Amino acid sequence: MHKALATPFFQKLYKVVKLTSLNVYKQVNACYNLLEVTNLHELFRKWLVESELRSPADNFNLEKQKLEYRKELLTGRACRINVKRSERKKQAQSGTGYFDLIELSAKNCYFCPANIKTATPMFPPSLVPEGRIKVGETTVFPNLFPFAKYHAVATVSRQHFLGIDEFTLKQMQDTIEASVKFFNYVKSADERAVYPRFSWNFLPPAGASVVHPHVQLTVDEHPTNLASLYLTACKRYFAESNKNYWLYLLETERDEQHRFLGDIGDISWITSYVPLGNDEICGVFRNISSLYELDGKAISDLSKGLKRVFTAYTLFGVHSFNLSTFSAPGEDESFRLIVRIIARPYPQCYYNNDAGFMERLHEEVIVESMPEKVAADMREYFG
Ligand SMILES: [Zn+2]
Repeated sequence: MHKALATPFFQKLYKVVKLTSLNVYKQVNACYNLLEVTNLHELFRKWLVESELRSPADNFNLEKQKLEYRKELLTGRACRINVKRSERKKQAQSGTGYFDLIELSAKNCYFCPANIKTATPMFPPSLVPEGRIKVGETTVFPNLFPFAKYHAVATVSRQHFLGIDEFTLKQMQDTIEASVKFFNYVKSADERAVYPRFSWNFLPPAGASVVHPHVQLTVDEHPTNLASLYLTACKRYFAESNKNYWLYLLETERDEQHRFLGDIGDISWITSYVPLGNDEICGVFRNISSLYELDGKAISDLSKGLKRVFTAYTLFGVHSFNLSTFSAPGEDESFRLIVRIIARPYPQCYYNNDAGFMERLHEEVIVESMPEKVAADMREYFG
């Protein structure tokens, strides 16, 4: 508990208002089926609630299903998990749409080696003198329709398609190295643009309009909404408790082992208590706070870690994902560089999107997979 929360006044106040004071899940307090409220190390809170229905599968007898309402206390972010649904065995998915998609998209692909020099844009000389950045198989060039002041695309492979477990360590390392070069070029050209993001939408269910493997590099003068929330909250947390939130979280998760996956070099991998999507895996850099601090060792650690994530995902039937980093503008004792990866639906012609009205219009995620179960299943790949 941080200093402010430890005062008797606050504790008293806290007791009185512990449920009704929350913006999120105020309604939970009024629910007569609230079973329990659990606090986890002042980091998270969980409300266990029952919902009743008469199930056709059981002669319309009364059935009580447990819901977990989870909240990350640092930011107030929340998600919901239906316990019964999370226990449902996922059917292994397959479909020809996946293969058709690869074949069709390979025709006249702008990112393939035959077209990349003539069909992709170049940077202005004031930003990148050589026009495009090249490292190994990776080429970095501007996004044709940017949605950030600085928005580049970096191809990961020369090959038009690779499954998520087929990327080599060298391809991953070269892509990240080229990305860091781009971030540094931007920093040299524009000292105010200090909020970089390394992101990857893999295949159309994750929002990729181009199948050829590529990451997106964006830099702005200001952080995104969620990055801002984390950076601000971590600063406040540090000022109040003199603790780095991410290191404290890692310490707690390592002790508990419920969501801790393992260390790979200087990055620790966990599943998130309040995920932003299904099968979320989060990598926390223990020693650095920003993408600008990525050196050869950190790039190698990240590449190795991502390969483990991709291997585990493939074995659990995940073939599409979103990945993004949360970076401070530079060294920051209150923050650590984070990479988050979430699974997306199987790529086929007709798939159930996993983002509905709750995710898109209420910014609250319905998570299908219990983070503790994801960790138990995937831990062996991080040992
Ligand atoms: Zn291609």
